[in-house]
Amino acid sequence: METKQFKAESKRLLDMMIHSIYTHKEIFLRELISNASDAIDKLYFKSLTDDKVGLNKDDFAIWISADKDSRTLKITDNGIGMTEEELENNLGTIANSGSFKFKNENKLEEDNQIIGQFGVGFYSAFMVAKKVTVISKAYGSDKAYQWESEGVDGYTITEADKKSAGTEIILEMLDDTDDENYGEFLDQYRIKSLVSKYSDYIRFPIKMEVSHS
Ligand code: ADP
Ligand code: MG
Repeated sequence: METKQFKAESKRLLDMMIHSIYTHKEIFLRELISNASDAIDKLYFKSLTDDKVGLNKDDFAIWISADKDSRTLKITDNGIGMTEEELENNLGTIANSGSFKFKNENKLEEDNQIIGQFGVGFYSAFMVAKKVTVISKAYGSDKAYQWESEGVDGYTITEADKKSAGTEIILEMLDDTDDENYGEFLDQYRIKSLVSKYSDYIRFPIKMEVSHS
């Protein structure tokens, strides 16, 4: 007898996840920084054997910038980036965790970060953002692509302009309500404290770009 695979109903899963898996909205930043760091790891390891990468260890970094006027938060890395296909496969399939597969295959020490294990880290962005845009250029590719989504209704992928390899994630924050303040995640001091609370272990510099307006 054939064993069939369960199909996850993405919309419901995403909805459930946004509203119940995460208790602290602030962890979205940790998840996006950890993805950026994973992507940099990959290009950094490549750079050790491939001169064409053209980056030294000190050149790799994660940049965070917030703009209160447009209510956008940007997290940029100069890591390995994603091809159009990777944008589709990695960001279009919920709970398709690359790190989970990696950890299982390599039997690394047990990781109690449940969120990371379920491969829903990226989607935590929708706890705080009404729209998420991912502009990415894969290392070695001459084309860049933009993935855009407002959450449960799906996503679009279009061609984009980007000079060097890496990924830029732009969050358009949700409107504040009587109960929830999302604008706080655009505050540089709040961001700084989240970075030291959750992302202290990241081995690449996390730089903050402050806009004076
Ligand atoms: P996980 O990190 O556990 O694999 P996520 O939901 O956090 O799950 O991310 C899904 C996948 O999307 C990652 O495995 C990775 O392949 C891809 N991805 C996410 N962010 C980036 C990024 N900044 N650069 C390159 N790839 C990324
Ligand atoms: Mg992740």
